[in-house]
Amino acid sequence: YGEKFGDEVLDFITKQLEENCGEGQFFVNLRSDVFMIVTEYEKEETLLDFIHCIDRSIHCFKDVKFQMSYGVYTVEDNKMELRQMEDRAAMARKAAKNNILTNILFYKEQFKDTLYNRKFIEENMQTAIAEKQFMMYLQPKYSIAKNEIIGAEALVRWVHPERGMIYPDQFIPIIEENGFIRRVDYYIWEEASRFIRRCLDTGIKPCPVSVNVSRVHLHENECIKVLSEIIREAGIPKNLLELEITESADSHHVSRKAFELKKEGFTLLMDDFGSGYSSLNILLETPFDVIKLDKKFMENMMVSSKGRLILEQVVMMADKLEMGLLAEGVETNEQIELLRSIGCDQVQGYYYAKPMPADEFFELLKQQENEREKYCG
Ligand code: C2E
Ligand code: CA
Ligand code: CA
Repeated sequence: YGEKFGDEVLDFITKQLEENCGEGQFFVNLRSDVFMIVTEYEKEETLLDFIHCIDRSIHCFKDVKFQMSYGVYTVEDNKMELRQMEDRAAMARKAAKNNILTNILFYKEQFKDTLYNRKFIEENMQTAIAEKQFMMYLQPKYSIAKNEIIGAEALVRWVHPERGMIYPDQFIPIIEENGFIRRVDYYIWEEASRFIRRCLDTGIKPCPVSVNVSRVHLHENECIKVLSEIIREAGIPKNLLELEITESADSHHVSRKAFELKKEGFTLLMDDFGSGYSSLNILLETPFDVIKLDKKFMENMMVSSKGRLILEQVVMMADKLEMGLLAEGVETNEQIELLRSIGCDQVQGYYYAKPMPADEFFELLKQQENEREKYCG
């Protein structure tokens, strides 16, 4: 919209704040699009009403809609440095910005840890790649009926020399924001391809390995080139490296990229089906080959007969659409029995195996092959 329009927006917001703030309520434009209001309040509800009022009055300007985020810090100690109060409100605001459920958050002590964690990750990620601290773990996928491994998913682990094992949930959201996920994903795609190569080289029947494709790639063209290059370099068949894509709010981008990848001959898995957003729409728009049922979705559905009916219909739908179906995060015998009874054969979860280092998975494959030979021979 340009700088001039930006200035008009800021003027507009200032005017609205002027109108909303009464006696004893002060506001200032701290910098660019960040404003601070200082007010007293008695009950949390009155404060929330006040914020909602402001939010309504500035939610759009000249047909342009705004996404506002509000962080609240309640001052209990008047001697605290003003700067520190401001920092805390800012932490709450940033948390609100990343929260899909609400745009208003009150400061919590744990935000400080979050900020500290973020700083640690941002300062150490480059070294981590250079020093090969990222490791590929593989989690087997099983066929219930055959009771054997039919594939694996590659999952990244950050093994830090001092902090030990750092799990993806702690660092992926941050490196998705700053784009560093590209490097990490490429590395895992390479490792997965090298693993498949190793199986081929040692005469072990390789199983397909699926890798996660961050949504960052879906907005860009680079990933298809990189994937093709990695596969060419490793000299492996394309169908052995499968791609897991998560449904997300911007289903349009997902669909477009999925079509391109499909055209290149890749197998596409729809990750976390049922975890949110419009799963069914995306099924219509996007050429996925396999649906991966989200762990929470399955758990929710299993506790009632209505839920089990929905689950059963999803299995049937996948079948009719000629799509594969795999249940994720399967932990109990009860879940296995239910899945078996409704015809979902492919599973991944702690019930069979946790993610493990690639060497360990290699041994597992070898062992399975030996047993099969013994059985057949
Ligand atoms: P995801 O793709 O849904 O991966 C499945 C997650 O569920 C993994 O967590 C796995 O360890 C965990 N899991 C598997 N079976 C069970 C079970 O029976 N019970 C429970 N409670 N959990 C189970 P992990 O490895 O911590 O990964 C978390 C998420 O981080 C992944 O979710 C994926 O979205 C992301 N991620 C992991 N590795 C990569 C990567 O290399 N690239 C990208 N872009 N994302 C990754
Ligand atoms: Ca996945
Ligand atoms: Ca998943």
